[in-house]
Amino acid sequence: MGRTLGPVCRLCRRETVKLMLKGTRCETAKCPMESQNRNHPPGMFSWRRGRISDFGIRLREKQKVKRYYGVLEKQFRIYFKNAERAHGNTGEQLLSLLERRLDNVICKMHFAQSHRQARQLIAHGHVKVNNHKVDIPSFQVKQGDIVSIKATDASKKLVNANLEADSGLPVQPWIQVDNTKLEGLVVALPSREDVQIPVEEQLIVEFCSR
Ligand code: SF4
Repeated sequence: MGRTLGPVCRLCRRETVKLMLKGTRCETAKCPMESQNRNHPPGMFSWRRGRISDFGIRLREKQKVKRYYGVLEKQFRIYFKNAERAHGNTGEQLLSLLERRLDNVICKMHFAQSHRQARQLIAHGHVKVNNHKVDIPSFQVKQGDIVSIKATDASKKLVNANLEADSGLPVQPWIQVDNTKLEGLVVALPSREDVQIPVEEQLIVEFCSR
């Protein structure tokens, strides 16, 4: 499983948007994006850089989405190809495919505080889909799938700790969660409105179609 190692706050600073990669810490004053001195792109003299080119604008949109969902370049290109093949708007299909990743669903159910933590929960075998263990973070959920947590004390303890630390944001309408049973039902496929980061998907389509 490929993943980005290294300081994650740097990724938010590079994209100049809060990508919420560190869970509850992202909502505190410790977030560098809340600091006047650090909420600029990393690197020396970043403020001296001139106007960003059209290519650069499109590249940044793509990188922002990749970094938010924790997807590497090769996998992102596969998502884009699948989105192109699907019916409907390619950009919206791309975002829908990314939203339906199992690690994103676990994160949106508030069973994990970040995509990274969700991936770890899944890879360590704490998650089931339709009562079968799934340890692939990129697994695509379908409408009607039931995502649940393994009924062991260790799994429940981990997830309950995350639910207690949760900021209380509502769960998205396409997932119905039962916190007592630690399971959620995918009642519909995610739509464009369900994507929580500011993104212009058309720019990504233009970038990837070059
Ligand atoms: Fe770091 Fe989270 Fe702030 Fe991003 S939003 S800079 S990951 S603390």
